[in-house]
Amino acid sequence: MSAPIYKIAIDTPLRRLFDYLPAAQGPQALPGMRVLVPFGRQRIAGLVIETAGESELPATKLRQVLQVLDTAPLFDHAMLGFLRWAADYYHHPVGQVMATAMPKLLREGRDVTVYERRWRITQEGRAALAAGAVQRAPRQRALLDILSPLPWLGEARIDELAPHWRSAARALAARGFIALDEVAVESAPPAPITARTSGLTLTPDQQQAVDAVRARLGTPAAFLLDGVTGSGKTEVYLQLTAAALARGESVLVLCPEIGLTPQLVARFNARFSEPIAALHSGLTDRERAAAWQLAARGGARIVIGTRSAVFAPIPRLGLMVVDEEHDASYKQQEGGFRYSARDLALLRAQRGGIPVLLGSATPSFESLHNVQLGKLQQLSLPARAGNAAAPRTVVVDMRAHAVHKGFAMPLLAAMERHLGDGGQVLLYLNRRGYAPTLLCNTCGWVAGCRQCDARLTVHQRSGRLACHHCGADEPRPAACPRCGYPVQPLGHGTARVEDTLAARFPQYAVERFDRDTLQHQQALEGAIDRVTSGAARILVGTQMLTKGHHFPDVTLVGVLNADQSLFSTDFRAAERLAQTIVQVAGRAGRADRPGEVLIQSEYPDHPLLRTLITAGYGAFAQDALAERAAALWPPYGRIALLRASSTAPDAALGFLRAAVAAANHPTGIALREPIPAAMTRKAGRYHAQLLVECGNRGRLQQFLAAWVPLVEALPAHANLRWALDVDPLEVF
Ligand code: ADP
Ligand code: ZN
Ligand code: ZN
Repeated sequence: MSAPIYKIAIDTPLRRLFDYLPAAQGPQALPGMRVLVPFGRQRIAGLVIETAGESELPATKLRQVLQVLDTAPLFDHAMLGFLRWAADYYHHPVGQVMATAMPKLLREGRDVTVYERRWRITQEGRAALAAGAVQRAPRQRALLDILSPLPWLGEARIDELAPHWRSAARALAARGFIALDEVAVESAPPAPITARTSGLTLTPDQQQAVDAVRARLGTPAAFLLDGVTGSGKTEVYLQLTAAALARGESVLVLCPEIGLTPQLVARFNARFSEPIAALHSGLTDRERAAAWQLAARGGARIVIGTRSAVFAPIPRLGLMVVDEEHDASYKQQEGGFRYSARDLALLRAQRGGIPVLLGSATPSFESLHNVQLGKLQQLSLPARAGNAAAPRTVVVDMRAHAVHKGFAMPLLAAMERHLGDGGQVLLYLNRRGYAPTLLCNTCGWVAGCRQCDARLTVHQRSGRLACHHCGADEPRPAACPRCGYPVQPLGHGTARVEDTLAARFPQYAVERFDRDTLQHQQALEGAIDRVTSGAARILVGTQMLTKGHHFPDVTLVGVLNADQSLFSTDFRAAERLAQTIVQVAGRAGRADRPGEVLIQSEYPDHPLLRTLITAGYGAFAQDALAERAAALWPPYGRIALLRASSTAPDAALGFLRAAVAAANHPTGIALREPIPAAMTRKAGRYHAQLLVECGNRGRLQQFLAAWVPLVEALPAHANLRWALDVDPLEVF
């Protein structure tokens, strides 16, 4: 009788599983457990995918597992199947897909048993509370009040509920009123659920949405919750979460950005006393591993996370929510494994036999198309919840008015009016830094990046020039390096707009939201606080401002420049621009104050703007979808992009031409001519791309499966890199 063979996924570019024999001693592995194996001359962690009776290799060639790293599988059979499906669909090495699915520390094979510190009230504590013995120590009293209805509470939750509680806890513990337990999360039973507050009374539309999804709990079903900003989508998620928890199930909520996670987590926290596992890139490696373990072991039945959380194993998962499903950050756009978390969420739900709810005020064209095909059931929340009315939107013709430093007079007048009435003003500009260009008016010299085909952005306060594509950074010259005359910043970025506003509206504090001012979570939270408290009256920012934040006192939204994307060559540019405008407009007038939206443009008659403003996003999308259908672009046709780059100018193009030549007779597949990328030179590398089109998903998949190994076998320049992007978001 021969020993079983383990088929193991290892984080390498090789597209296969590796065979190993069981460890000589110690416990044996099950599929879904990590093991330490010899690999070449290294010892590395791998994930057991399955066991087999035999190997293609002779037993004498097989090496042994050195050690089994887990006592229970991290991934069950269904999750392993889902991950393998993802590897197949994106034509990416299975070991790297498995590695993406795990937090770094687990991937590296570390032991990350997580201990949670939990406090509980003792009998003595209850007696003291009843006797009013801690009346004169308000912090101690508050802590006892929090703990008294619960069996225990983890420190992370206490941090949220009672700031500065630690000295009170020490004092109470010294008197024996409370006690601390350290519990291995792995062995911890899930905490008891109690709804902290009951839900709001739903509007009829919300009720219909909740009923539709609730009726399908426990079955595969996919929904699009198409609800304008402020229509109460989050309330729908909360009530459906309560329904799933009541069935003993867990819930996974995906959201696009780390910046949105704290607000979303706070709303779930305010509703449920369940522990919540938040998975996002703002955590340290240890925190991330801990939160992931908590989710994987059933210690947190509400999991909220960004893109890669779609791979988190969650026992008894009963519902998935993808909030702001149109958001581009659901697509991994870097590196090799370019997956879409939204698309994978649909697949995971289908395979798992559970409902998934995609929510957006501006649904992606993919989702609208899926509604047409009957693959998604549409649920609509057409009106704002509460009293809020929809904002009034107008386009300001930049050619018809005097313009002061990027502001047309009607916008300045509207700002004065709204600020004078006590409202807040939000200004959107998709350009950070002081100015996008440094120019010499005398000889025409422009500051460019040495590494990229791009201009350097002026950062005035630091006195530097920065490349927003490669990160290059150099001192700002005082004079033109070519002719010696002075140089001038040209154009307006958020930092310059902030200065303009400070000069024009000195009596109102300005808060800037962009990656330069808000590098850290704390900075973002501080900025949000200053806006919600009313200390800041004018908000200016990039894309960050268009997403999710609730600023109820904003009554005026200004889009400073909508024109950049109007004439882009990318087939998705119009969709993106419309989504951005509608999302940013949705920040206005959320409470009972009527909102107003002004969009500055030099092309006020552009059909996109016209349809969007007069007929709304839905009508715009129908028009734009008809254009996509005529051109057979996604979501009608299917595309993949083979991207290559190299430090040698023509190597990437040459490689792609060889890839075209290597393809055998594809029927129904169009392989386009390889072309240089829109920004050909980026960070010192030359980029090129090859577009593959097909009317049919299955046929494209078949072709890619046969072609990718041939591409892999092509001889390539030493520093050539390539990546296949299935369903790319950007193709220019
Ligand atoms: P969305 O997620 O669609 O942007 P939210 O769920 O954030 O909308 O709701 C917007 C505001 O309306 C929130 O302040 C929320 O508390 C409130 N709200 C939502 N549903 C209701 C309801 N049924 N009754 C009253 N207020 C509601
Ligand atoms: Zn010059
Ligand atoms: Zn650069």
